[in-house]
Amino acid sequence: MEKKKLTACAIVIGCFLLFGVLVSANQGKKYEKQFFAMDTIMNLKIYDKNKKHAIKMLSAAQSEIERLDQLLSTGNSESEVSRLNREKTLTVSSDCHFLMCKSSEIHQMTQGAFDITVYPVMKAWGFADASYHVPDQELLRELLQHVNMSDITFDLQNSYIALPDGVMIDFGGIAKGYTSACVISLLKSQGVEHALLDLGGNIHALGTKPDGRSWSVAIRFPQDYQGEKQDYLGILEISDQAAITSGGYERYFEENGVRYHHIIDPHTGMPAQSGLLSVTIVSEDSALADGLSTSCYVAGVEEAIRIWESRKTDFDMILFTETGDLYITKGLEDLFRTELDFKVIQSVDEAN
Ligand code: AMP
Ligand code: MG
Repeated sequence: MEKKKLTACAIVIGCFLLFGVLVSANQGKKYEKQFFAMDTIMNLKIYDKNKKHAIKMLSAAQSEIERLDQLLSTGNSESEVSRLNREKTLTVSSDCHFLMCKSSEIHQMTQGAFDITVYPVMKAWGFADASYHVPDQELLRELLQHVNMSDITFDLQNSYIALPDGVMIDFGGIAKGYTSACVISLLKSQGVEHALLDLGGNIHALGTKPDGRSWSVAIRFPQDYQGEKQDYLGILEISDQAAITSGGYERYFEENGVRYHHIIDPHTGMPAQSGLLSVTIVSEDSALADGLSTSCYVAGVEEAIRIWESRKTDFDMILFTETGDLYITKGLEDLFRTELDFKVIQSVDEAN
């Protein structure tokens, strides 16, 4: 009798193991690639049944990232953006065309908190070439006169851009979000069904994990928080979405004991001090998510909520403030796990 039970147990376990092997073989194996581009570490992970195809896909993804890096980098004097900043008029590529349209949309949505013409101010702070220093206030006042992306002439039909004197642009606040969208559509068109891209902390998921469950993504805890620190703000479940986080802790320098970070308030020319330490935007539209994470960080909690109200079907968000308050929008209630106390932001219609 005992022997029979044991045999039955062994058969059941064997079946489970065989099923597991068959399922995982069917889902394909994991292939990864890590490299440096766009001033940061990129980590690409895809699942594929065919090793040759997987390797080809990873290198195609890397080439796409490098192509966009060369096109958009302000640090490369031969990039399209550098040429535009120098020559002031240019007929631009479809990538630049798209980024101009998206940047302008986010500029309007955020009432100017997102502004690609903030670049001369970034340069004055030394963020463009790592020559960090606090600029002269008089210089900032002068430069701010040229910060307003509505001054750019953009002929949509002909992809023609004209920058007025003194105006220069930088897509640094949106480029990685756009890049991940391009890579995802490339992978999709080549039959890849499951992938997770990490472009310097900007996460973008293609599909679900091979077993059908969502990808679990840890959201970094902002290192500049003055209270008790945690390992993570929480864990977010995503599929076919991007989760993009902005925080001043990502790039900063110190002068006379004061910290100055790289996200600039276009209205003051100063590093934004809105009370927020971290903003994560979750959206299927990764360029939107990238632009909004930067600009909601500038805008602060109340304004970020107003922006979300205006487009709540397009994105969700996680906000963490310097007083330790954590907010998540309603859509993330079942998708975000955290040890911290949090408040759920509801839309005005739902609250009433
Ligand atoms: P992110 O890491 O996506 O938040 O983007 C930060 C980068 O966006 C900076 O390094 C700048 O290149 C650029 N940037 C800074 N402030 C702004 C702003 N207010 N609007 C648009 N881009 C900005
Ligand atoms: Mg951004």
